[in-house]
Amino acid sequence: MKRERGILIVLSGPSGAGKSTVISALLKCRDDIRFSVSATTRQPRPGEVDGKDYFFRSRDEFMRMIGQGAFLEHAEYVGNHYGTPAAPVEEDLNAGFNVLLDIEVQGAAQVMKKRPDAVSVFLCPPSLTELERRLRGRGTDPEEKIKCRLETAREEYKMAGNYTYIVVNDDAQTAAAELDAIITAGLCRSELRLGTILEGVKPL
Ligand code: ADP
Ligand code: 5GP
Repeated sequence: MKRERGILIVLSGPSGAGKSTVISALLKCRDDIRFSVSATTRQPRPGEVDGKDYFFRSRDEFMRMIGQGAFLEHAEYVGNHYGTPAAPVEEDLNAGFNVLLDIEVQGAAQVMKKRPDAVSVFLCPPSLTELERRLRGRGTDPEEKIKCRLETAREEYKMAGNYTYIVVNDDAQTAAAELDAIITAGLCRSELRLGTILEGVKPL
């Protein structure tokens, strides 16, 4: 069914839970979703591409963007700044695409307040031991950052109840299938469909 405006999907979860992995599996099987590319002051990891994974920006540039009101939300996470550029999100929603944000819990709270109709999902690993294993296995963060990310994870878990859905990423394909189902359910919400179906029963 063609929609005039897409829906906003907020995905959060501890770093290392598997958000990027699950998102990339999801995007392979859906062409109605656009991933929102965030801006960050973090250094690129090997293989990360500017403009695709993130817009890598200096702290000064990031602060200037905040001043210009360029962000839908922004937050500091483990010593770096992250933010969602507002304009591309609006453009994609207006073009009828569903927009997926991969953002941490403080930013997600800002979005849920501004856009209560957003579909929110907390993705977590099967355990904190497995999270630690994944963070080390990814091999992208120095030891002190891994410790910091694990401590932050404990805080993030406290926010899980604010999300409409929780997906446990034990098997990535299963988690992607659950996220897919949640988005499909979000698109079937009656407030999005009522107008269209009532059009069809207008008196002659
Ligand atoms: P995030 O985007 O949440 O920080 P990543 O997608 O980078 O997490 O995943 C962190 C690490 O865990 C990566 O090395 C990834 O290959 C691995 N991983 C992701 N999902 C699973 C899974 N279901 N089982 C085992 N390893 C996984
Ligand atoms: P990483 O450095 O591992 O790529 O991301 C660290 C954390 O920042 C993750 O929890 C990720 O969801 C979050 N993040 C990425 N982009 C944004 C953003 O635009 N805003 C906020 N608030 N968090 C973000």
